[in-house]
Amino acid sequence: MTALRVRGIVLPDRVERTFWIDGDRIGTEPLPGAETVVDGGWLLPGLVDAHTHPGSTGPGHPFDDGVLRDDLGAHRDAGVLLVRTPGSAGRIPKWVDDDPDLPRVRSAGRWLATPGRFFPGWGRDVTEADLVEAAVEEAAASSGWCKVIGDWLPDDPAVPLSVLTAVVEAVHAIGGKVAVHCQTAEGTRNAVEAGVDSLEHGLNLDPALVDRMAAQGTALVPTLGAFGDMAERGRPVRGWDAHFGTVGAALEAGVTVLAGTDSRPCGTVAAEVGWLIRAGLGVEAAVGAASWTAREWLGVPGLVEGAPADLVAYDRDPTVDPSVLGSPGRVVLRGRVVG
Ligand SMILES: [Zn+2]
Repeated sequence: MTALRVRGIVLPDRVERTFWIDGDRIGTEPLPGAETVVDGGWLLPGLVDAHTHPGSTGPGHPFDDGVLRDDLGAHRDAGVLLVRTPGSAGRIPKWVDDDPDLPRVRSAGRWLATPGRFFPGWGRDVTEADLVEAAVEEAAASSGWCKVIGDWLPDDPAVPLSVLTAVVEAVHAIGGKVAVHCQTAEGTRNAVEAGVDSLEHGLNLDPALVDRMAAQGTALVPTLGAFGDMAERGRPVRGWDAHFGTVGAALEAGVTVLAGTDSRPCGTVAAEVGWLIRAGLGVEAAVGAASWTAREWLGVPGLVEGAPADLVAYDRDPTVDPSVLGSPGRVVLRGRVVG
């Protein structure tokens, strides 16, 4: 494999650096014979979509290897080199990790759906009594995450706080993490009070809870685009009008707010960054939510010595002109030029 040389202004530090890449590792020691593949412009750690479901074309549709490969390829082509899949119709197969052309995946196994919550049969249907055991199983069988459907229809009860609390204790005990779908006042409150690791969507979240989220390290993945597109098409989304304000309040309180698209086609995280900006996040925080902030949250370092060699390069500064985000001039994944 050819060693690579890249030079540019590294975000978020805004310092010009030159890196030498040998295999899947970023270095700062010059490597003789390295091929220069980026010379100037702006360098970001590979983009991240923290909420995407590659592998199925829609609710109820089967999990399919070909769809999975195409979806992950669409992410990669948009510069998204790390994704978190908070639930899917099947567990992410091992060949994904072994394919150097595909983004890194942090998966949560199958959606965990208790009766009356979620699309029947699409996730893993379990009783509330079996939820703890199933959550531990999914977390252990995936990248350490599990995904619980914490509520569903607006007027139906959420997963009880006592059950969700037991899930969090059991999954944390094996070193795992818990992501919870929640979009009702009860569901979001239970998720925060149970101490989950991330609220997925988080509509109707009581802003009085954001300080607690910040203190206990609960992140918010507001998936604005998925709901905003619905609202703009005239479909009622309960809590949408207040969602922007809650997202801003969460960020201000110190909550980690992340970009997750939760929509198809894959590879549109730049659009979600646009939504985060509309919600008042500030361009730098919004871009970080789809890059360095999300990587750090997932335990993957940014552009530093010894880090995995995933980067995207732009000829304009994406924190000044975020419209460039989705079309990087150069994409390096696992130390190889892939775009
Ligand atoms: Zn989702």
